[in-house]
Amino acid sequence: MSDWEKNVKKLVPYVPGEQPREKNIIKLNTNENPYPPAPAVQEVLEDFYADELRRYPEPTLYELRGALAQFHGVEPEQVFVGVGSDDVLAMSFLTYFSDADMPVRFPDITYSFYDVWCQLFAIDYEQVPVADSFAIEFGGYEGRCGGIVIANPNAPTGLALDTASLGRLVESHPECVVIVDEAYVDFGGESMLPYIERFDNLLVVRTFSKSRALAGSRIGYAMGSQKLIGYLLAARDSFNSYTMDTITQRIGVASVRDVEYFERGVARIVETRRWCCKRMQKMGFDFPETSTNFIFARHRDVPAEEIFTKLRDRGIYVRYFKKPRIDNYLRITIGTDEQMEKLFEALDVILSEAKNL
Ligand code: PMP
Repeated sequence: MSDWEKNVKKLVPYVPGEQPREKNIIKLNTNENPYPPAPAVQEVLEDFYADELRRYPEPTLYELRGALAQFHGVEPEQVFVGVGSDDVLAMSFLTYFSDADMPVRFPDITYSFYDVWCQLFAIDYEQVPVADSFAIEFGGYEGRCGGIVIANPNAPTGLALDTASLGRLVESHPECVVIVDEAYVDFGGESMLPYIERFDNLLVVRTFSKSRALAGSRIGYAMGSQKLIGYLLAARDSFNSYTMDTITQRIGVASVRDVEYFERGVARIVETRRWCCKRMQKMGFDFPETSTNFIFARHRDVPAEEIFTKLRDRGIYVRYFKKPRIDNYLRITIGTDEQMEKLFEALDVILSEAKNL
């Protein structure tokens, strides 16, 4: 190791799902939305003049925070906007957890960025095992701690928790901030948002990447008490005050204002999910009940890794995690009806080939 390398932070980074360059593939590996964003987003892009980019973007994200506040029925001061919910979550870990003298707790099977941020910000953490059914068990969260992070619905399992139990969890931890990551909540989970009035240590995090079909724009946000959000804003302004560019801010506002398009888009995915679940059960897959835009499934006879590789050879990308407890599962994003039909055609062939061996 060179002399200077001794001072360098050594990290094991998060590995996102593949973004293959080929055009003719079916991409069901990163929980993106298969439909376009709201038509008003296209209009924003068409009406934009490059000259507007001479100026710095509006730093308080006034309009976007206002639109979100109106949509959710909260005050703009209760909304924090970041560059994707990854940015919001990273900033939250940095703000709420980095001085904690007790470990932060989250499930052992959950979004795999949480432990990476703990590593980055030198936060002590404990991964609380989920049950064999993947259900989150609250017993493991008893006793004082430095913070709690729960994805609800959870990823990659798809399982949702009821908000009354989560409410009791927050109530029993006044000593720390509890983050509920609601990246997938629009597809069927119950939001903890009503609880932010009751608990000033509860942060609810959302994203435009899934239900709003804007993964490429990188918009995420958090809602909580004014006090909680104030700390987050101070951290952001100590780091980079111009996080979100001018075009993205406008795209975000356009998306939030088209409520009808949003609701229709979500309903369409939920409908596709309904028939896909039935079809997969018939094919010999089992999976926890999903409240998201993906299904986390294993096959009764054929190993997940084999199915993953064979689908990939046919240009169909799903997500496979070679990790303890979940290495026989595939996470399959809900695409269009047509994409899902193609997936099932390919699965029919792969599964019957495997049985005939
Ligand atoms: N939370 C969870 C549970 C996720 O699955 C994802 C998507 N990878 C994110 C947060 C981050 O999403 P984004 O940064 O695109 O908002």
